[in-house]
Amino acid sequence: MDPRIALRRQRARRREIRTDIARAGRKEAQRRWIARVDLDAIPMPAWAAERRIPGLTFTESAVWLRRRDAKFLCRLDRAAGGSPGYAETEMRRCGVCHRPLLGEDAVYRRRLDESAVTGRMKSCGSECAEASKDGRWR
Ligand SMILES: [Zn+2]
Repeated sequence: MDPRIALRRQRARRREIRTDIARAGRKEAQRRWIARVDLDAIPMPAWAAERRIPGLTFTESAVWLRRRDAKFLCRLDRAAGGSPGYAETEMRRCGVCHRPLLGEDAVYRRRLDESAVTGRMKSCGSECAEASKDGRWR
């Protein structure tokens, strides 16, 4: 199929969902994209450590950031002769325990959040209630 047609259909479908959500008086969930950078040539800068997404992998060479920050960090690494790893994914936090969900899990969570007025109060899994109590993802 022509990718433009596929994209048009996808947009139309999204528009339908949006209309349904609005008609039911629910709130549409914003999609949030983040990126992981695996540094090659430079050590992790302090600013990147400060701006990392809490609750996700963070090492001397790997960090999850907002895309703008991630692209900037890649530029710095490449300027130093490196070839950094870069991967984008959708992210969404559970409204109950604050756990960060990535990729397909984030898409599922977003649809769950949009599914009902109380969608954001639904649990993300078996450890959700416990995690919410001890605040491990806060
Ligand atoms: Zn949860």
